[in-house]
Amino acid sequence: MQPLRIIVIGAGAAGMVAAAEAARRGASVILLEKNTKTGVKILMSGGTRCNLTHDTDARGITDSFGHAKRFLQKSVGSFPPRDVVEMFNRLGVPTKREVSGKIFPESNRAIDVRDALHNAVVRSGTEIRLQSPVQSVTRENNIWHVVTEHETLQADRVIVTAGGRSWPGCGTTGDAYAWLKKLGHTIVTTRPALVPLVGGHAWTKELSGITLDDCVASVRSVGAKAKKKPLIERRSSWLFTHFGFSGPAAMDVSGTITAASSLKDVQLTLDLLPGVPVSELEAVLSDRSGDGGRRKVATVFSQWLPGRLVDALAVQSGGNVSIAELPAAVMQRWIENTKRLHMPVNGTRGFAKAEVTAGGVALKEVDPRTMASRIVDDLFIAGEVLDVDGWIGGYNFQAAFATGRSAAIGATATGDRTD
Ligand SMILES: Cc1cc2nc3c(=O)[nH]c(=O)nc-3n(C[C@H](O)[C@H](O)[C@H](O)COP(=O)(O)OP(=O)(O)OC[C@H]3O[C@@H](n4cnc5c(N)ncnc54)[C@H](O)[C@@H]3O)c2cc1C
Repeated sequence: MQPLRIIVIGAGAAGMVAAAEAARRGASVILLEKNTKTGVKILMSGGTRCNLTHDTDARGITDSFGHAKRFLQKSVGSFPPRDVVEMFNRLGVPTKREVSGKIFPESNRAIDVRDALHNAVVRSGTEIRLQSPVQSVTRENNIWHVVTEHETLQADRVIVTAGGRSWPGCGTTGDAYAWLKKLGHTIVTTRPALVPLVGGHAWTKELSGITLDDCVASVRSVGAKAKKKPLIERRSSWLFTHFGFSGPAAMDVSGTITAASSLKDVQLTLDLLPGVPVSELEAVLSDRSGDGGRRKVATVFSQWLPGRLVDALAVQSGGNVSIAELPAAVMQRWIENTKRLHMPVNGTRGFAKAEVTAGGVALKEVDPRTMASRIVDDLFIAGEVLDVDGWIGGYNFQAAFATGRSAAIGATATGDRTD
């Protein structure tokens, strides 16, 4: 009996796990990659440190994936963060947990993560073909024909792990959407997510380079569809840039902003002091007795916020007077500007700077246990090419590893070829 012939398309996080697992389960696997090396995105991830997963359980991971939460429960549940950590430790990559819960290689070197996966693929017996951009994927008489720039390959099963269309310089130019659409799959409109935002006030642009370690960014719908509850709220660090905003809190809410049919339908606000409730601010700013009353308002805020930001807030809020002389309206403006600061958003840095792609292959057309296409037999789809996008913090690699593994198990499940 011949082993099953499986072609995996795309040697990123999902593709390398899928190829190694499928070969380990007895399949004859070819891994096709358009780049000159495997795992290009892994190499550049996490500021070249690779935040490979997050210290949480399966539910903690899937909760970060919005509408895809249920879809991912099976794959992430059977390969949760502790198994990913165990896999890397077994592959010779000791890991460490940072205070934020992010898990990195102890070496802080993304290349160690990529090399470990690459070597596991090689050891599994998978044949890696680099510089092999796939141009089309078709099926005739139950055999897959995968056409690359140089050759046409045949396979019994295909696993598509070609990623999304963000950071196209990495090879991820959204090629797979066209083949999968031709095969009958629905491609949910793609849009940038985990992307820096363009916007701000003239005065916030002057704050370029300032990082706030602890902020809450909230996005609310406005106008006719307005609801009291925010569409998303993320507490993390925030970075003012010359074009707008970046940092985890801004990037985590960006996908909700790009999902709006118009930027006019959503509003971004920032709580610069999530650890200080409005009631406490009111009490401090109303305490006119003795030394408290002699303190300047800016001095109060300087205990929590960087000086340059406090100076700008003083101008916006109507002045830096002593608390004893603080008019009620000016106090309210200070509170408004620190607890509910409205940040206009004009756009994003686009796919060029988006860490992930939202949208992709419609999840209802894929079996969440096996990643098998429900449209075409013997086709499996995993990783970011699916309509999944999670928060910053290792969530996206975790989903890519887990869905890649499920696809390999699914693709090898029904045994050997019989011809
Ligand atoms: C700058 C940056 C930093 C990031 N940091 C992190 C982080 O620290 N932690 C985290 O969890 N996530 C991070 N991400 C997100 C993470 O990289 C992705 O979610 C993850 O790589 C998706 O894995 P994947 O295997 O589905 O796709 P990819 O890793 O994108 O792999 C797809 C592969 O398919 C190949 N390919 C595409 N088309 C073809 C074709 N036609 N023929 C052959 N091959 C093809 C591509 O070249 C690529 O190698 C980061 C992303 C970016 C851009």
